Amino acid sequence: MTLIDGKAIAQKTHAASRAAVAELKARGITPGLAVVLVGADPASQAYVRSKDKMCHDLGMHSVKHELPATTSQADLIAIVRLLNADPAIHGILVQSPPPSHIDERAVIDAIDPRKDVDGFHPLNVAKLTLGDPDGFVPCTPLGCQRLLIESGIETAGANIVVLGRSMIVGKPMALLLMAKGPGGDATVTVAHSRTRDLPAVCRTADILIAAIGRPEFVRADFVKDGAVVIDVGINRVDDFSLPKGYRLTGDVAFAEVAPKCRAITPVPGGVGPMTIAMLMASTIASARRFAALG
Ligand code: NDP
Repeated sequence: MTLIDGKAIAQKTHAASRAAVAELKARGITPGLAVVLVGADPASQAYVRSKDKMCHDLGMHSVKHELPATTSQADLIAIVRLLNADPAIHGILVQSPPPSHIDERAVIDAIDPRKDVDGFHPLNVAKLTLGDPDGFVPCTPLGCQRLLIESGIETAGANIVVLGRSMIVGKPMALLLMAKGPGGDATVTVAHSRTRDLPAVCRTADILIAAIGRPEFVRADFVKDGAVVIDVGINRVDDFSLPKGYRLTGDVAFAEVAPKCRAITPVPGGVGPMTIAMLMASTIASARRFAALG
Protein backbone atom coordinates (compact mmCIF):
# COMPACT_ATOMS: atom_id res chain seq x y z
CA MET A 1 0.00 0.00 0.00
CA THR A 2 1.26 3.46 -0.94
CA LEU A 3 0.41 6.48 1.17
CA ILE A 4 -0.30 9.40 -1.16
CA ASP A 5 1.60 12.28 0.42
CA GLY A 6 -0.56 15.36 -0.20
CA LYS A 7 1.82 17.59 1.72
CA ALA A 8 4.77 16.68 -0.51
CA ILE A 9 2.73 17.03 -3.72
CA ALA A 10 1.38 20.38 -2.50
CA GLN A 11 4.96 21.54 -1.80
CA LYS A 12 5.91 20.62 -5.37
CA THR A 13 2.93 22.62 -6.66
CA HIS A 14 3.91 25.57 -4.45
CA ALA A 15 7.47 25.45 -5.79
CA ALA A 16 6.11 25.78 -9.35
CA SER A 17 3.81 28.60 -8.19
CA ARG A 18 6.69 30.44 -6.50
CA ALA A 19 8.69 30.30 -9.74
CA ALA A 20 5.67 31.49 -11.76
CA VAL A 21 5.13 34.42 -9.36
CA ALA A 22 8.79 35.43 -9.66
CA GLU A 23 8.52 35.36 -13.44
CA LEU A 24 5.36 37.48 -13.39
CA LYS A 25 6.89 39.95 -10.94
CA ALA A 26 9.84 40.40 -13.28
CA ARG A 27 7.25 41.63 -15.81
CA GLY A 28 5.71 43.99 -13.24
CA ILE A 29 2.70 41.80 -12.39
CA THR A 30 2.01 40.59 -8.84
CA PRO A 31 -0.79 38.00 -8.65
CA GLY A 32 -3.33 39.15 -6.04
CA LEU A 33 -5.91 37.16 -4.08
CA ALA A 34 -8.73 38.67 -2.00
CA VAL A 35 -10.45 36.57 0.64
CA VAL A 36 -13.67 37.77 2.23
CA LEU A 37 -14.98 36.27 5.44
CA VAL A 38 -18.29 37.17 7.07
CA GLY A 39 -18.58 36.18 10.74
CA ALA A 40 -16.13 34.74 13.22
CA ASP A 41 -16.31 30.98 12.66
CA PRO A 42 -12.94 29.71 14.03
CA ALA A 43 -12.43 27.08 11.30
CA SER A 44 -13.14 29.65 8.55
CA GLN A 45 -10.82 32.17 10.25
CA ALA A 46 -8.07 29.54 10.27
CA TYR A 47 -8.62 28.82 6.54
CA VAL A 48 -8.50 32.54 5.72
CA ARG A 49 -5.30 33.00 7.73
CA SER A 50 -3.60 30.09 6.01
CA LYS A 51 -4.55 31.42 2.55
CA ASP A 52 -3.17 34.85 3.47
CA LYS A 53 0.04 33.29 4.83
CA MET A 54 0.50 31.15 1.73
CA CYS A 55 0.08 34.19 -0.55
CA HIS A 56 2.86 36.00 1.34
CA ASP A 57 5.00 32.89 1.26
CA LEU A 58 4.76 32.70 -2.53
CA GLY A 59 5.36 36.44 -3.02
CA MET A 60 1.74 37.19 -3.97
CA HIS A 61 -0.43 40.15 -3.03
CA SER A 62 -3.08 39.27 -0.46
CA VAL A 63 -6.11 41.18 0.78
CA LYS A 64 -8.22 39.97 3.68
CA HIS A 65 -11.67 41.34 4.51
CA GLU A 66 -12.95 40.02 7.84
CA LEU A 67 -16.47 41.38 8.24
CA PRO A 68 -18.87 41.15 11.19
CA ALA A 69 -21.59 38.47 11.11
CA THR A 70 -24.18 41.26 10.87
CA THR A 71 -22.87 42.44 7.47
CA SER A 72 -25.75 42.81 5.02
CA GLN A 73 -25.86 41.02 1.69
CA ALA A 74 -25.85 44.41 -0.09
CA ASP A 75 -22.68 45.50 1.75
CA LEU A 76 -20.98 42.19 1.00
CA ILE A 77 -21.85 42.46 -2.69
CA ALA A 78 -20.58 46.06 -2.69
CA ILE A 79 -17.19 44.79 -1.45
CA VAL A 80 -17.16 42.08 -4.12
CA ARG A 81 -17.83 44.76 -6.77
CA LEU A 82 -14.92 46.87 -5.48
CA LEU A 83 -12.66 43.83 -5.73
CA ASN A 84 -14.00 43.10 -9.23
CA ALA A 85 -12.84 46.57 -10.25
CA ASP A 86 -9.45 46.41 -8.47
CA PRO A 87 -6.68 45.70 -11.02
CA ALA A 88 -4.35 44.42 -8.24
CA ILE A 89 -6.77 41.54 -7.53
CA HIS A 90 -6.88 38.50 -9.82
CA GLY A 91 -8.75 36.09 -7.56
CA ILE A 92 -11.73 36.64 -5.25
CA LEU A 93 -12.90 34.10 -2.74
CA VAL A 94 -15.83 34.51 -0.37
CA GLN A 95 -15.35 32.00 2.43
CA SER A 96 -18.23 29.53 2.69
CA PRO A 97 -20.66 29.26 4.40
CA PRO A 98 -21.82 32.85 4.97
CA PRO A 99 -24.33 33.61 7.77
CA SER A 100 -27.87 32.43 6.99
CA HIS A 101 -29.26 35.92 6.16
CA ILE A 102 -26.95 36.02 3.12
CA ASP A 103 -27.88 34.29 -0.14
CA GLU A 104 -24.56 32.68 -1.08
CA ARG A 105 -25.64 32.17 -4.69
CA ALA A 106 -26.33 35.92 -5.13
CA VAL A 107 -22.85 36.72 -3.79
CA ILE A 108 -21.14 34.19 -6.07
CA ASP A 109 -23.09 35.54 -9.05
CA ALA A 110 -21.69 39.01 -8.26
CA ILE A 111 -18.05 37.86 -8.57
CA ASP A 112 -16.43 38.68 -11.91
CA PRO A 113 -16.16 35.18 -13.46
CA ARG A 114 -12.64 36.06 -14.61
CA LYS A 115 -11.66 36.39 -10.90
CA ASP A 116 -13.77 33.48 -9.61
CA VAL A 117 -10.79 31.27 -8.71
CA ASP A 118 -13.08 29.00 -6.65
CA GLY A 119 -14.92 28.07 -9.86
CA PHE A 120 -18.41 28.47 -8.36
CA HIS A 121 -19.77 31.12 -10.75
CA PRO A 122 -22.34 29.69 -13.22
CA LEU A 123 -20.13 30.67 -16.16
CA ASN A 124 -17.23 28.62 -14.78
CA VAL A 125 -19.53 25.69 -13.96
CA ALA A 126 -20.70 25.83 -17.58
CA LYS A 127 -17.13 25.97 -18.89
CA LEU A 128 -16.17 22.89 -16.88
CA THR A 129 -19.24 21.07 -18.20
CA LEU A 130 -18.37 22.11 -21.77
CA GLY A 131 -14.73 21.07 -21.35
CA ASP A 132 -13.60 24.66 -21.97
CA PRO A 133 -10.12 24.99 -20.37
CA ASP A 134 -10.49 28.78 -19.94
CA GLY A 135 -12.70 28.48 -16.88
CA PHE A 136 -11.87 28.00 -13.20
CA VAL A 137 -12.47 24.66 -11.50
CA PRO A 138 -13.23 24.23 -7.76
CA CYS A 139 -9.91 23.79 -5.97
CA THR A 140 -10.61 20.59 -4.00
CA PRO A 141 -11.55 18.36 -6.96
CA LEU A 142 -8.74 19.96 -8.97
CA GLY A 143 -6.39 19.00 -6.12
CA CYS A 144 -7.67 15.40 -6.09
CA GLN A 145 -7.06 15.14 -9.81
CA ARG A 146 -3.54 16.52 -9.36
CA LEU A 147 -2.85 13.95 -6.62
CA LEU A 148 -3.83 11.14 -9.00
CA ILE A 149 -1.71 12.52 -11.85
CA GLU A 150 1.34 13.17 -9.66
CA SER A 151 1.05 9.70 -8.11
CA GLY A 152 1.04 8.08 -11.56
CA ILE A 153 -2.45 6.64 -11.10
CA GLU A 154 -4.05 6.14 -14.52
CA THR A 155 -7.62 7.38 -14.78
CA ALA A 156 -8.20 6.62 -18.48
CA GLY A 157 -10.61 3.73 -18.71
CA ALA A 158 -10.73 3.31 -14.91
CA ASN A 159 -14.01 2.78 -13.09
CA ILE A 160 -14.21 5.66 -10.62
CA VAL A 161 -16.91 6.07 -7.99
CA VAL A 162 -17.35 9.56 -6.58
CA LEU A 163 -19.20 9.39 -3.28
CA GLY A 164 -21.03 12.73 -2.83
CA ARG A 165 -22.68 15.10 -5.32
CA SER A 166 -22.06 18.59 -3.89
CA MET A 167 -21.29 21.55 -6.14
CA ILE A 168 -18.01 22.05 -4.25
CA VAL A 169 -16.59 18.54 -4.53
CA GLY A 170 -18.61 15.63 -5.95
CA LYS A 171 -20.16 17.13 -9.07
CA PRO A 172 -17.08 19.00 -10.39
CA MET A 173 -14.95 15.96 -9.47
CA ALA A 174 -17.09 13.75 -11.70
CA LEU A 175 -16.94 16.29 -14.55
CA LEU A 176 -13.14 16.51 -14.32
CA LEU A 177 -12.71 12.74 -14.32
CA MET A 178 -14.97 12.20 -17.32
CA ALA A 179 -13.36 15.03 -19.33
CA LYS A 180 -11.02 14.07 -22.15
CA GLY A 181 -7.30 14.19 -21.43
CA PRO A 182 -4.78 13.57 -18.63
CA GLY A 183 -6.46 12.88 -15.28
CA GLY A 184 -9.73 12.22 -17.13
CA ASP A 185 -11.21 9.71 -19.57
CA ALA A 186 -12.63 7.66 -16.68
CA THR A 187 -15.92 5.82 -16.46
CA VAL A 188 -17.54 7.70 -13.59
CA THR A 189 -20.33 6.74 -11.22
CA VAL A 190 -21.64 9.36 -8.79
CA ALA A 191 -23.18 7.95 -5.59
CA HIS A 192 -25.09 9.81 -2.87
CA SER A 193 -27.51 9.38 0.00
CA ARG A 194 -30.20 7.87 -2.23
CA THR A 195 -27.91 5.31 -3.87
CA ARG A 196 -29.06 1.71 -3.39
CA ASP A 197 -26.53 -0.77 -1.93
CA LEU A 198 -23.73 1.76 -1.58
CA PRO A 199 -21.03 -0.77 -0.55
CA ALA A 200 -21.67 -2.81 -3.72
CA VAL A 201 -21.53 0.31 -5.93
CA CYS A 202 -18.29 1.43 -4.25
CA ARG A 203 -16.76 -2.03 -4.69
CA THR A 204 -16.92 -1.54 -8.49
CA ALA A 205 -14.38 1.26 -8.15
CA ASP A 206 -10.78 1.06 -9.28
CA ILE A 207 -10.58 4.53 -7.73
CA LEU A 208 -12.96 5.57 -4.94
CA ILE A 209 -13.27 9.25 -4.04
CA ALA A 210 -15.13 9.85 -0.78
CA ALA A 211 -16.61 13.33 -0.17
CA ILE A 212 -19.64 13.00 2.10
CA GLY A 213 -18.72 14.58 5.42
CA ARG A 214 -19.44 11.46 7.52
CA PRO A 215 -16.52 10.39 9.74
CA GLU A 216 -15.11 6.96 8.82
CA PHE A 217 -18.24 6.06 6.85
CA VAL A 218 -16.37 4.10 4.16
CA ARG A 219 -15.53 0.72 5.67
CA ALA A 220 -13.47 -2.19 4.37
CA ASP A 221 -16.50 -3.77 2.65
CA PHE A 222 -16.86 -0.66 0.42
CA VAL A 223 -13.43 -1.21 -1.15
CA LYS A 224 -12.21 -3.85 -3.56
CA ASP A 225 -8.71 -5.23 -3.17
CA GLY A 226 -6.12 -3.08 -4.93
CA ALA A 227 -8.32 0.01 -5.24
CA VAL A 228 -7.07 3.58 -4.91
CA VAL A 229 -8.92 5.62 -2.26
CA ILE A 230 -8.97 9.43 -2.11
CA ASP A 231 -10.47 10.70 1.14
CA VAL A 232 -11.76 14.27 0.83
CA GLY A 233 -13.56 14.30 4.17
CA ILE A 234 -12.47 16.59 6.98
CA ASN A 235 -14.50 15.84 10.09
CA ARG A 236 -13.96 16.93 13.68
CA VAL A 237 -14.68 14.13 16.14
CA ASP A 238 -14.49 14.46 19.92
CA ASP A 239 -11.26 13.16 21.41
CA PHE A 240 -10.80 14.27 24.99
CA SER A 241 -7.43 12.56 25.20
CA LEU A 242 -6.10 15.48 23.12
CA PRO A 243 -5.57 18.99 24.55
CA LYS A 244 -7.86 20.55 21.89
CA GLY A 245 -10.61 17.98 22.64
CA TYR A 246 -11.04 16.75 19.07
CA ARG A 247 -9.22 15.12 16.22
CA LEU A 248 -9.65 15.37 12.46
CA THR A 249 -10.74 12.31 10.57
CA GLY A 250 -11.73 11.59 7.00
CA ASP A 251 -14.78 9.92 5.48
CA VAL A 252 -12.81 6.66 5.29
CA ALA A 253 -12.10 4.23 8.16
CA PHE A 254 -8.40 4.42 7.36
CA ALA A 255 -7.11 1.62 9.64
CA GLU A 256 -9.33 -1.08 8.11
CA VAL A 257 -9.42 0.25 4.52
CA ALA A 258 -5.72 1.04 3.98
CA PRO A 259 -4.47 -2.60 4.01
CA LYS A 260 -6.81 -3.38 1.05
CA CYS A 261 -5.63 -0.45 -1.05
CA ARG A 262 -3.04 0.02 -3.75
CA ALA A 263 -2.82 3.65 -2.63
CA ILE A 264 -4.71 5.89 -0.20
CA THR A 265 -4.63 9.49 1.05
CA PRO A 266 -4.35 10.16 4.78
CA VAL A 267 -6.42 12.75 6.72
CA PRO A 268 -4.89 15.16 7.52
CA GLY A 269 -2.07 15.46 4.99
CA GLY A 270 -3.86 14.21 1.87
CA VAL A 271 -6.38 16.29 -0.07
CA GLY A 272 -6.39 19.25 2.37
CA PRO A 273 -2.99 20.74 1.44
CA MET A 274 -3.83 20.36 -2.27
CA THR A 275 -6.91 22.59 -2.04
CA ILE A 276 -4.86 25.64 -1.07
CA ALA A 277 -2.10 24.74 -3.54
CA MET A 278 -4.63 24.73 -6.39
CA LEU A 279 -6.14 28.02 -5.18
CA MET A 280 -2.74 29.67 -5.46
CA ALA A 281 -2.14 28.10 -8.90
CA SER A 282 -5.55 29.29 -10.15
CA THR A 283 -4.89 32.86 -8.93
CA ILE A 284 -1.56 32.87 -10.76
CA ALA A 285 -3.28 31.52 -13.90
CA SER A 286 -5.80 34.35 -13.59
CA ALA A 287 -3.03 36.97 -13.33
CA ARG A 288 -1.46 35.52 -16.48
CA ARG A 289 -4.79 35.71 -18.31
CA PHE A 290 -5.38 39.32 -17.27
CA ALA A 291 -1.92 40.14 -18.62
CA ALA A 292 -2.78 38.22 -21.83
CA LEU A 293 0.11 35.83 -21.18
CA GLY A 294 -2.11 32.78 -21.72
P1 NDP B 1 -21.96 18.29 1.39
O1 NDP B 1 -22.62 18.10 2.71
O2 NDP B 1 -22.27 19.51 0.59
O3 NDP B 1 -22.30 17.03 0.47
C1 NDP B 1 -22.24 15.73 0.97
C2 NDP B 1 -22.61 14.74 -0.10
O4 NDP B 1 -22.49 13.45 0.49
C3 NDP B 1 -24.04 14.88 -0.58
O5 NDP B 1 -24.09 14.68 -1.97
C4 NDP B 1 -24.77 13.78 0.17
O6 NDP B 1 -25.82 13.17 -0.56
C5 NDP B 1 -23.70 12.74 0.34
N1 NDP B 1 -23.97 11.95 1.54
C6 NDP B 1 -24.14 12.39 2.80
N2 NDP B 1 -24.38 11.36 3.63
C7 NDP B 1 -24.37 10.25 2.88
C8 NDP B 1 -24.58 8.88 3.15
N3 NDP B 1 -24.85 8.44 4.38
N4 NDP B 1 -24.50 8.00 2.12
C9 NDP B 1 -24.24 8.44 0.87
N5 NDP B 1 -24.04 9.72 0.54
C10 NDP B 1 -24.11 10.62 1.54
O7 NDP B 1 -20.41 18.15 1.66
P2 NDP B 1 -19.14 18.69 0.81
O8 NDP B 1 -19.13 18.10 -0.54
O9 NDP B 1 -19.03 20.15 0.95
O10 NDP B 1 -17.95 18.07 1.69
C11 NDP B 1 -17.78 16.69 1.83
C12 NDP B 1 -16.62 16.43 2.77
O11 NDP B 1 -15.44 16.96 2.19
C13 NDP B 1 -16.74 17.12 4.13
O12 NDP B 1 -16.13 16.29 5.12
C14 NDP B 1 -15.93 18.38 3.97
O13 NDP B 1 -15.41 18.85 5.20
C15 NDP B 1 -14.83 17.88 3.08
N6 NDP B 1 -14.20 18.94 2.30
C16 NDP B 1 -12.83 18.96 2.30
C17 NDP B 1 -12.16 19.90 1.59
C18 NDP B 1 -10.68 19.86 1.57
O14 NDP B 1 -10.04 20.86 1.31
N7 NDP B 1 -10.07 18.71 1.81
C19 NDP B 1 -12.86 20.97 0.87
C20 NDP B 1 -14.30 20.80 0.82
C21 NDP B 1 -14.93 19.83 1.56
P3 NDP B 1 -27.19 13.95 -0.96
O15 NDP B 1 -26.79 14.90 -2.05
O16 NDP B 1 -28.07 12.86 -1.41
O17 NDP B 1 -27.64 14.67 0.30
